[in-house]
Amino acid sequence: MIVMKFGGTSVGDAANIRRVVELVRARRADRPCVVVSAHSGVTDALLDQAQKAVAGKHDVAPLRERHQKICEELGVTVPEHDGLFQELADLLRGISLVAESTPRLLDHVASFGERLSVHTVAAALRAAGVPASAVMAYDAGLKTDSRYQKAKPLPESFDAIAANLATRAEVPVVTGFIAKDAAGSITTIGRNGSDYSASLFGRALRASEIQIWTDVPGVMTADPRLVPDARPIESMTYDEAAEIAFCGGKVLHPATLQPAVEADIPVRVLDTRNPSGPNTVIWREVPPSRPVVRTVVQKRGICLVNIVTPRMLGAHGYMARIFDVAARHEVALDMIATTEISVSATVEDDRRRLPALLAELQTLGEVTIDGQVSAVAVVGHAVGESPETIGAIFSTLAREGIALRMVSMGARRTNVGIVVGEADTARAVQSLHAALCLEPEKAKAATAR
Ligand code: ADP
Ligand code: ASP
Ligand code: MG
Repeated sequence: MIVMKFGGTSVGDAANIRRVVELVRARRADRPCVVVSAHSGVTDALLDQAQKAVAGKHDVAPLRERHQKICEELGVTVPEHDGLFQELADLLRGISLVAESTPRLLDHVASFGERLSVHTVAAALRAAGVPASAVMAYDAGLKTDSRYQKAKPLPESFDAIAANLATRAEVPVVTGFIAKDAAGSITTIGRNGSDYSASLFGRALRASEIQIWTDVPGVMTADPRLVPDARPIESMTYDEAAEIAFCGGKVLHPATLQPAVEADIPVRVLDTRNPSGPNTVIWREVPPSRPVVRTVVQKRGICLVNIVTPRMLGAHGYMARIFDVAARHEVALDMIATTEISVSATVEDDRRRLPALLAELQTLGEVTIDGQVSAVAVVGHAVGESPETIGAIFSTLAREGIALRMVSMGARRTNVGIVVGEADTARAVQSLHAALCLEPEKAKAATAR
């Protein structure tokens, strides 16, 4: 079996869904399990409607029209959509009556994107003569805990999914992003989570490959939206890809690689609009013998938290207390740097969790927070072991006049992370990419510019 996951743009309109149908049809012999996202922009629109419902001003008509138009252009009728839009309207009306939404309700609202799109894609496959059926991930056995909006899959899911899907004759078209908890409430596994769903299904079904079909030709040397001359990368190790995803490379959800590593399944990232073009395979393969720079990535939407206290001088257990506070508030400290009297850490800018965390950290020292920052990372096998690369990173940023707010490099040296001011992000990524990721001739020309 293989897993084929199609992201929001890949199922964003009728023309793209027709491409999806052809891609699945061409791979029928590999027994595909298809995982799909909501049409592009639909999850944002749903969450926006939930917010509007709180203010008593929601309207699902534009969403309904978008789904109808796609079905009409594909020439399919999808009777299941009526019931789903009725359920959505009822839910939003409920939210508007109580003028309040909770993370649990937001997950329920967000779930409609995938619950609607799987029916459309399954109908398009059937219309093209490919036997297919829409499957809700929770009906297939995907169960999570109840941490709404960032739910964690439970291990019993794998056997349940295998029992439900492994021997199906029809192509299952499964919802990405969503699941249910033990109480039967709908959960989501984090924004951009359909990649993670795909690898969870891949692991459960012992797939021979997990294919992530998206709108770029694989993992690239930088986000092509920011760096137009970014190039696709042919192959990389799980470690490198996990680091790229974790450091903000949106092309993969950060948790995607974990189930693939556990089950030793290659992950391939491909372009739906150019299926025979370049793509990236991510596997356990032997790391390169020399340090290599793969990608320069950026992560926005973070804050830098600084805790300063002379009490740290010569004291034991101070870091443990900080980690303990962060753990209790369920906030991950991503990049960390310490001096004798201060600790700095980057955290996700999460308005639900940060105020309480900061209030408690204040009992440990003087806390300042800088919200106008981004993390930029140079990722690749052993990059941190190459004095030339480290030298080039600092000299490039110095030449550009970009101030560093923090620097971090872990023991595995797959990543050199730098925190810069938000306004410097694009320039930092572009100049580092020109200095480190281009062929020497182009790099010389770019840096001479
Ligand atoms: P999908 O809807 O298919 O999941 P996403 O928008 O979530 O697609 O992810 C694909 C996007 O990731 C690309 O359009 C690109 O802008 C962005 N991206 C960021 N960093 C990288 C990178 N290093 N390589 C490729 N794409 C990247
Ligand atoms: N539809 C979800 C989102 O927009 C999940 C995904 O696209 O991967 O976050
Ligand atoms: Mg995505």
